Amino acid sequence: MLLKGKSAIVTGSTSGIGLGMARALAESGANVMLNGFGDAKAIEATRAGLAKDTGAKILYSAADMSKGDQVTAMVRAAEAGFGAVDILVNNAGIQFVSPVADFPEEKWAAVLAIDLSSNFVAIKAALPGMQARKWGRIINVSSAHGLVGSPFKAAYVSAKHGVVGLTKVVALEMAELGITCNAICPGFVRTPLVEGQIDDQAKAHGIPREQVIRDVILASQPNKRFIEVEELGALAVFLSSDMARSITGIAIPVDGGWTAR
Ligand code: NAD
Repeated sequence: MLLKGKSAIVTGSTSGIGLGMARALAESGANVMLNGFGDAKAIEATRAGLAKDTGAKILYSAADMSKGDQVTAMVRAAEAGFGAVDILVNNAGIQFVSPVADFPEEKWAAVLAIDLSSNFVAIKAALPGMQARKWGRIINVSSAHGLVGSPFKAAYVSAKHGVVGLTKVVALEMAELGITCNAICPGFVRTPLVEGQIDDQAKAHGIPREQVIRDVILASQPNKRFIEVEELGALAVFLSSDMARSITGIAIPVDGGWTAR
């Protein structure tokens, strides 16, 4: 069990990539605090199921990542519940698609708050404990859009590029202290977030969903298939392991070749 005795928080883990990463970390022996929105009964079923399947201690925080005080409280609750936060995965994220000229300012602020500022606040809250123990792993889920742009995603692309910048600064500040900080930059993974985008783009372009998937969404992804959450979970486990202790400050594309162009 690679991560036995470690404790993790995965933000935005009631669904999609976050849930896949939480499962992979728990299967590797780590205790995990889940976080995110959704139906209370469904979330409890997920929490209890993960605990039963893996034998790990699984907690849940309903903290809203757009609210800094709730982000800090989530980290404190994990420290209280587990005794430590060794691994912090900043994954919660939202998307909003619009041309810049029409982009609503409140949507810009919401995307920046959840996709970028929550990472900063959670890192700030978790670092003192990691520094005291001289061990820590911070994994920020950025995006291929943290490395390249696309039209209509001004806030998301800005936030995700910001996450890559934040990752480098934290890595440099922590380099001698046993704490690594890296960003994972997925291409298109089939999750509820992407399902929503397929519908939005179909409406915007007036074309069928299948055509959106082939010609719009996977147009820039050379391997022409969606990435599976298990692929990202495996990378999170590796980055959390001792063998990844010299890997820090990087943005790792998992994008089927998208950013190789
Ligand atoms: P998703 O919509 O399936 O899951 C998002 C999670 O974040 C959910 O658990 C949701 O409840 C939670 N969340 C949303 N707003 C929140 C808030 N204010 N406070 C707390 N939790 C909140 O999305 P996903 O596709 O799994 O995306 C996860 C991350 O991966 C995001 O940061 C996203 O930008 C990034 N990403 C996704 C893709 C993709 O193709 N799906 C590609 C690159 C990057």
